[in-house]
Amino acid sequence: MNATTSAAVMSPGTYMRKRREAAGFSIDEIAMMVGGKSATGRAEIKNLVERLEAGEVGQAQSLVYQLVGAFSFDERVYSALVLRAADPDSRVPIPPICRVCACSFFDPCHDLQGEACGWAPVGEGEEPLCTMCIDDGEPDSGEQQPIPAADNDAEACNAA
Ligand SMILES: [Zn+2]
Ligand SMILES: [Zn+2]
Repeated sequence: MNATTSAAVMSPGTYMRKRREAAGFSIDEIAMMVGGKSATGRAEIKNLVERLEAGEVGQAQSLVYQLVGAFSFDERVYSALVLRAADPDSRVPIPPICRVCACSFFDPCHDLQGEACGWAPVGEGEEPLCTMCIDDGEPDSGEQQPIPAADNDAEACNAA
């Protein structure tokens, strides 16, 4: 028998929160962008986004359409997560999602040169991690500059 241990799948709400945070927006800022000029419109969007992220709105399709222009996420990934959350035993395929920023194949991060991220090597059974997030979190992959040798003998003499 082939025991397939399915790793915990990110919830749709967590997915949307991570994508919003990766874009650097607060919920208030999203409400400003999407809710329009009226204060009630903004308050409504704010409330909906909070509930969406808390997992209270399962399939808030109209809100999701409104959020498309506000920050970058992949609707197909979101829909797959919604289906999987509704039925955890279903075989809905979930594409790899970065565990930190929730980017995915059709919705990658871009560096300052416009270069898309890729997948960083992770241990077996670990959730995917993109190269952008590994650069952020683990600063030991960069080149280490040797610390210049102390060169203060002369100065010490002058100061004395
Ligand atoms: Zn990432
Ligand atoms: Zn990424």
